[in-house]
Amino acid sequence: VRSPTAATRLFAVLGDPVSHSRSPLFQNAAMRAANIDAVYVALRCDREALPALMRTLAAAGGGGNVTVPHKRVAAEALDRRTAVVERTGACNTFWMRDGELWGDNTDVAGVEAAIRALLASVPRRVLVLGAGGAASAVLAALEAMGVEEVSIVNRTIARAQELRARFADGSLRISIGATVDELDSHPWHLAVNATSLGLREGELPKVGSARFESALDLVYAPGGTAWIRELHGIGIPAADGTEMLLRQGAAAFRQWFGHDPDLDVMRAALR
Ligand code: NAP
Repeated sequence: VRSPTAATRLFAVLGDPVSHSRSPLFQNAAMRAANIDAVYVALRCDREALPALMRTLAAAGGGGNVTVPHKRVAAEALDRRTAVVERTGACNTFWMRDGELWGDNTDVAGVEAAIRALLASVPRRVLVLGAGGAASAVLAALEAMGVEEVSIVNRTIARAQELRARFADGSLRISIGATVDELDSHPWHLAVNATSLGLREGELPKVGSARFESALDLVYAPGGTAWIRELHGIGIPAADGTEMLLRQGAAAFRQWFGHDPDLDVMRAALR
């Protein structure tokens, strides 16, 4: 491992809280494997400090990621936004190009890659649990993949309404409900947990009597979340959020350095 020098570029994940972030683990491993002279750290910052911190890191030749609860504020701080930042209203990756602060939302590419890794074909009907920032990235990914029908279930129905309104001008047919059992009951090809239920060990997302053929949990846990372990027990193809985490990180790396990282190196560092 080489020590930082005066030439080393600084990358950071900005959030609050952020000390639990696993991004430094796999981003530093990927940079080392690619022989890039850079370090990646986690910096806690408040909403007021975020725009200046993003601009300063990027102007100094680095860049970074943004996590909870700042992805919306980050989108507003940019000079230039990718199409998915416009679509989701959120930014999780930033860098400087030609003196302008650029941002992307690589959670979208991360979700799409995780779904493609799980399923052989694009699902037509998808159940999305949750209506926060992660759910917005899921909808953008489903739209890009050509999914036809989405049902959004969220405890706070107003947030599900907002999310439906954001995507109303696109190709997705969207229904909403406060519980799964309020929806027309037909089997879904895929169920996605984009709530924070599952962060605490043993906790399960509320799927009611829903029937679905496969599942993606955005929450991740060593050995898989309780929900994913339960689904594997009954033979349903399912994955936790590890693949999405890796793939959003790989897409961010590509924006910073112009080439793909070694995914196997990143995966090993995460283990
Ligand atoms: P967020 O904007 O705060 O949204 C949280 C969502 O969870 C909301 O829909 C909220 O419902 C719901 N929720 C929370 N507690 C609940 C409860 N007790 N019962 C029912 N619903 C509940 O957070 P986010 O940024 O979307 O992130 C959601 C989760 O996705 C995170 O916990 C994280 O683990 C995961 N995530 C993973 C990745 C990855 O790379 N794998 C990336 C991003 C996020 P209300 O609207 O009713 O409050």
